[in-house]
Amino acid sequence: MVWAPRVTIKKPEEIAIMREAGRINALALAATRELLQPGVTTADLNAAAEEVLRKHGAVSPFKGYPGPYPYPASITVSINEELVHGIPGKRKLKEGDIVSVDCGTLFGGFVADSAYTAGVGEISPEAQRLLTVTEQALHEGIRRMVPGNRTGDVSAAIQRYVERHGYHVTREYTGHGVGRQMHEPPQVPNYGVPKRGLVLRRGMTIALEPMVLIGTPHTRVLDDQWTVVSADGSLTAHFEHTVAVTEGGPLILTVL
Ligand code: MG
Ligand code: MG
Repeated sequence: MVWAPRVTIKKPEEIAIMREAGRINALALAATRELLQPGVTTADLNAAAEEVLRKHGAVSPFKGYPGPYPYPASITVSINEELVHGIPGKRKLKEGDIVSVDCGTLFGGFVADSAYTAGVGEISPEAQRLLTVTEQALHEGIRRMVPGNRTGDVSAAIQRYVERHGYHVTREYTGHGVGRQMHEPPQVPNYGVPKRGLVLRRGMTIALEPMVLIGTPHTRVLDDQWTVVSADGSLTAHFEHTVAVTEGGPLILTVL
């Protein structure tokens, strides 16, 4: 991945633009969520998100993102054991799948980045519990994003919550600063030690993104060189929000 060189502090007016990018991003994710039914293809989800971005004069920072080869779509769609970076295509959703959709929006020169995992039709109680725990882990991290705390406080809160519920966090992929670039410092892993890491300051904007696996923390990458799956084939989930550190506390930017 390509990272900007330093942690950036955003002015209030820049955060306001990111809030708008985040709102558009939330609309795009909502459009994909409405389509989660058996028979819908992952390319359909990509088209729905692209349509929302286009209507709002925004583009996806995912498209063309440097990697083993430029990322070919505007969102990532990762199903069941696929943790992140699944490429949309002809695959059809099936009843009982859990689908992680990650979307970025570049608007007004700034990026918003957010993801959710949701079920197709009825899902197993185990899958439902995984989604509930992963989403709550994200919020456990978000509420620690206050000035004076450290990134380790946020990381540790996510890890503790996930592991207390018997699941695992990935070590290979992390949350990150976000702003004019999709990936800026600091990295904010989903594991860590309280009171360690960078001190959070007002004006930092960070995408927190717990990536949670049922079986083990280990992952591997499929032959398409992008799709990351759990090494043991167990179910995975991913929730993400872009959050600003403000004097008044954490401000989630990627909501409607
Ligand atoms: Mg993302
Ligand atoms: Mg991200």
